[in-house]
This record gives sequence, structure tokens and C-alpha cells, in this order.
Amino acid sequence: MTDCLFCKMVSGEIKPDTVYEDENVLAFRDISPQAPLHVLVIPKRHISTLNDLDEADAQLAGQLTLAAAKIAEQEGVAEAGYRAVMNCNAGGGQTVFHIHMHVLAGRNLTWPPG
Ligand code: AMP
Ligand code: ZN
Repeated sequence: MTDCLFCKMVSGEIKPDTVYEDENVLAFRDISPQAPLHVLVIPKRHISTLNDLDEADAQLAGQLTLAAAKIAEQEGVAEAGYRAVMNCNAGGGQTVFHIHMHVLAGRNLTWPPG
């Protein structure tokens, strides 16, 4: 997707503050952090929303989750705790339409979220 901000990060057209990368997944610091640690984990392949995942994407969905846990470990927040969350469409607060998992930590995260 040439017009997608996160695809541009995957292609290198825009350089994110990368914290983790492998064959399938890229993770970088959020430009507007909502916690001391705020990382976005994205699949390198464009998928617009959670609603667009299908059975063939099951492994990729798992890889996003595993990457989130690896990043929490790498960033030293795994034991204290963190939140991994995906927003879907306008009602869920999604503003960038390339799926991403937010990894938030470093402050006391309340529940329910706003
Ligand atoms: P969401 O609202 O769930 O779609 O999350 C999109 C996230 O992307 C927000 O937390 C934004 O702060 C973040 N974001 C937008 N533009 C950039 C950028 N250029 N680099 C890093 N994060 C970004
Ligand atoms: Zn994209």
C-alpha cells in the first residue's frame, strides 16, 4: 500500500525509531507516547484492520503477540507488567489503518481504558 504510513516504515521511506524487527514484524516507538514505554508492533504485510484478518493470517497474528512479549522482556517491563492492545475502527480508537499492537508500560495502567 503506497499511501499507508506504516507501509512506508516497512519500506524505509520513513525511518521509525525501531526497537525490534524480524522477517514478519516491525516494532517502533510511538510518536506520541501514552506511557513511558509505548511501542507499536506491526506486520510487515499490509492488513487494514483486525476485521480483515482471515484464517491464513493466524500465524502472523500470533507472531505479533509473541513480538510484543519479546519487546516487553527486552525493554525490562515484562515482570512489572504491561498492556498489549489493538484498536479496531473508529469506535475502537483506530486512527492508522494498518494493524498494530500497542505495547504500553512504565506507569500504573488503569482498567477499563477510556
Ligand atoms: P491507533 O489510534 O490505535 O490507530 O494508533 C495509531 C498510533 O500511531 C498512535 O498512537 C499514534 O501516536 C501513532 N503514530 C502516528 N504517526 C506515527 C509516526 N509517524 N511514528 C510513530 N507513531 C505514529
Ligand atoms: Zn500498510
